[in-house]
Amino acid sequence: MPVRKRFIAGAVCPACQARDSLALWRENNVDIVECVKCHHQMREADKQAQGHVREQEQVIGIFHPD
Ligand SMILES: [Zn+2]
Repeated sequence: MPVRKRFIAGAVCPACQARDSLALWRENNVDIVECVKCHHQMREADKQAQGHVREQEQVIGIFHPD
């Protein structure tokens, strides 16, 4: 079963400041957010990621990597 990545509407990458570039998915029961532009990655365990995802809950699409 492929991992489904969702893009987070309006989210801004804290590393490269790109908008609408953050993809969110779940891996081993951990929510992972990755910037598709600079590949900066945040996990649910990180306080930074928590704040980011809670703020930006609206999702704009489903991304199928295959
Ligand atoms: Zn980035």
